[in-house]
Amino acid sequence: MIDPVRVVIVGGGTAGWMTASALARFLPGVADVRLIESEEIGIVGVGEATLPHLRAFLQRLGIDEAEMMRATNATFKLGIDFRDFGAIGDRYVHPFGAYGVDLAGVGFHHYWLRAREEGSRRSLEDYSLPIVAARANRFAFPPADGDFLATSYGWAYQFDATKLAPMLRGYSEARGAVRTEGRVIGVERAGESGDVTELVLDSGERIAGDLFIDCSGFRALLIGGAMDAAWEDWSHWLPCDRAAALPTQSMPGPIEPYTRATAMSAGWRWRIPLQHRVGNGYVFSSAFLPEDAACDAILGAVEGARQAEPRILRFRAGRRAQSWVGNVVSIGLASGFLEPLESTSIHLAQMAVMRLIELFPERRIDPADRVAFNATVDYEYDRVRDFLILHYHATTRDDSDFWNHVRTMAVPDSLAEKLELWRESGRIEKYGEGLFLEPSWVAVYLGQGQLPERYDPRADNPTAPALTRTLDEIAGSIAQRVAAMPDHATALRAHGAWSGV
Ligand code: FAD
Repeated sequence: MIDPVRVVIVGGGTAGWMTASALARFLPGVADVRLIESEEIGIVGVGEATLPHLRAFLQRLGIDEAEMMRATNATFKLGIDFRDFGAIGDRYVHPFGAYGVDLAGVGFHHYWLRAREEGSRRSLEDYSLPIVAARANRFAFPPADGDFLATSYGWAYQFDATKLAPMLRGYSEARGAVRTEGRVIGVERAGESGDVTELVLDSGERIAGDLFIDCSGFRALLIGGAMDAAWEDWSHWLPCDRAAALPTQSMPGPIEPYTRATAMSAGWRWRIPLQHRVGNGYVFSSAFLPEDAACDAILGAVEGARQAEPRILRFRAGRRAQSWVGNVVSIGLASGFLEPLESTSIHLAQMAVMRLIELFPERRIDPADRVAFNATVDYEYDRVRDFLILHYHATTRDDSDFWNHVRTMAVPDSLAEKLELWRESGRIEKYGEGLFLEPSWVAVYLGQGQLPERYDPRADNPTAPALTRTLDEIAGSIAQRVAAMPDHATALRAHGAWSGV
């Protein structure tokens, strides 16, 4: 039996405890997990909206959904309601699910485009079960043995981000992970390889390891500090670099099963309903708006009594050129940051943890594993980056310097190619798996007024009456199914997810 790899995680935010949980769960006896965190420094503590992929992660850990939701005051999330992005007054939901049904292997939106050309005025949203449910503030799980329409959606959570890490801490410690309170003040490295050998804490304690995981957040203590990994700056494409966060009391009335993203003069603001309060924040570019003006703007925009003063968070869009260098792997904010417009950060941490587990090294790190890990992380970050830029660039807004800038800026070639493909033919680049597949791009393109020049000619196949009949049936069936769903608060209670706060 070989000795376990001594893994030292720096940082006990969401990324740190997700990493500890996954290593403790999937590599027992293989990884000896130690986590250092400093209560004095604290965690970011925002990050309240998630993606459906988190469910698979929690399921694989064996964490009960209702229990997690109670512990974090979570609500269900069916998508994001974007307002004022393409033009002031526009509104669309980016849903967690497909539109319509599969018709002869051609994307459903092509049939919608054809019907529109033939005079139909029905919104694409009427063909999305999660959107119709979201707009009605209703929620139900897809039935295990339902037809495609009934099962073609997923859900995620909106939760109190300060409560997930403590929950995962309990989980990890119960599976052997050891936590050390303290501040890392020194990093020892081996002369020849440059690998990290030991961390020095403010108490004087020294902690040795074989593999170090940097989850120290924006500080990026090991990957940016000791290993000096280059930072790829994307702020010319994603100029938002601040957030003014502000929790408010819940308003009477239904709890929305979705996150709201409303465009503002120098960015956008989120509204995330939890069981016990509402999270709000204005993500803005300090090049276009001073911090105090952003605080005033969010104070003026929120509904409900505020629970604190606005708190400013500062960041930069971008990622490490290499997220794994030597024997240091960075996960979470230490590895990169993409603003929360599509709630992707926690997912990117999850993706990195799971990839690390697939490539988990023995005592000697194979450089090929490092290359493979970095390639996956780069691919996922770059894809999310393009998707985020699209939300800003695909607009007709010309009412502020910020919107004039993002509307007219040069975009990455990878996005320019996608846009051209869409505009010419309504096609989406095919991805095998991962984040933001065809329905997501369709939601943003069409939601932001980007109509393609033509649709797929194969969508001309059914006769006009046959197409009308099919579309009517789909929309009618969705409306019926949603009418039978309970409202969101009832669904939370029925699931045992209501915390009673
Ligand atoms: P942190 O939470 O900052 O944790 C860092 C840890 O490192 C802490 O425990 C700290 O004590 C420790 N540490 C640092 N230095 C030292 C040291 N010297 N010694 C010892 N310990 C140290 N994500 C989403 O998925 N959805 C969202 O809706 C979302 N919204 C966001 C909104 C904003 C404005 C921001 C800024 C982020 C948002 N995120 C969101 C991102 C999300 O908050 C983070 O991805 C998530 O919290 C993970 O953070 P982290 O664990 O990497 O860092």
